[in-house]
Formats: sequence, C-alpha cells, structure tokens
Amino acid sequence: MSTWQPADPEATRELGRRLAGLLRAGDLVVLTGDLGAGKTTLTQGIGAGLGVRGQVASPTFIIARAHPNLGQGPDLVHVDAYRLQSLAEVDALDLDSSLEDSVTVVEWGEGMVEGLAEDRLEIMVGRPRGGLRDAEEVADAGARTVTIHAHGPRWEDVDLTAALGDPVDT
Ligand code: ADP
Ligand code: MG
Repeated sequence: MSTWQPADPEATRELGRRLAGLLRAGDLVVLTGDLGAGKTTLTQGIGAGLGVRGQVASPTFIIARAHPNLGQGPDLVHVDAYRLQSLAEVDALDLDSSLEDSVTVVEWGEGMVEGLAEDRLEIMVGRPRGGLRDAEEVADAGARTVTIHAHGPRWEDVDLTAALGDPVDT
C-alpha cells in the first residue's frame, strides 16, 4: 500500500493519466473517499490517459457511463455507486461484460463491488490529516492523499512507483 500526494487538481489528474498507462481491458478500480475528495478528478485523468471519448463527470442521474475508445486502448466504464443501496442493485447494473472488455472505475464502490473481481486496485482519496501549523502547511492544505492498495495476482508484479513516481512517507 502506497500513498501519493497530488498538490492540486491538475496533479490529481496527472496521477490518473499515469495510472491509465498501467490499465488494460478487464481491470477494476474501486475509488473510496468523502464527497469532494477528488474521486471524479482522478477518473478524469484516467479517461484522458486512456484516450476515451466524452467528458468524465460526476453523474447526477446516470449511475454508469461508458466512454468508448476510438483508438487502440480499452473503453472506460465509469460507475457512481453513491445512490446504490444494495448488492442487488450492483448486480442489476450487469457489469460483467464491462469487467471483461473495459476498464471499470467505480466511485463509492467500497463494500459493494469487491466480490466482482479478485484483481482490483482499491484507491482511497482523502485530505492529509493533522493540524495546520505554519503558512507552508496552510498553502498545502488543498493537497490530497491518494492511497493505492493493489489486490490479486494481476497486480503482483506491477511496479506502481515506476509509473506514478515515488510515494510519500506515511
Ligand atoms: P469526488 O468525486 O470525490 O466527490 P471531485 O473529483 O468532484 O470529488 O473533486 C472535488 C473537488 O476537489 C474539485 O473541485 C477538484 O478540483 C478538487 N481537487 C481534486 N484534487 C485536488 C487536489 N489534489 N488538491 C486540491 N483540490 C483538489
Ligand atoms: Mg465524484
């Protein structure tokens, strides 16, 4: 488990773009973190890195949105599970074909979608903890922490640091 600390929204997007370089069809990414943490921002970077069509946005009414890839890369299926209450509702989304043929990113999927795939990246987006003691810390207060926990054999030999840069000490 490693943590990166993007300083601003563009850095969060850049982290997503770099992560996209590791992603291929069939991969599942589960995003956790409070409202406003930066889950959609990270997904925007993933979409840009994959080179998919359509703006990645916080879906208000839409629960799952497919972004086709007109190039060589995989499609992106972006799921916002915020409004989903139960596993039955996750089942109803019928993500099986997406999970095979696309990169699937699920916001608010914690506790719901782990059973869908043994191989997955669980990413927690948050704000650094602790009090603000000086001006430098205040300036940094906009930063986010992005903690990645890779599960399953798919990710065993993947070097996240090579793709994302050195993590911060935690
Ligand atoms: P979520 O999907 O988790 O609810 P969003 O991705 O919509 O959150 O982001 C909420 C806000 O946080 C946006 O205004 C976004 O620009 C901002 N944000 C994202 N990453 C960072 C960062 N590293 N530092 C400061 N603000 C950020
Ligand atoms: Mg969101």
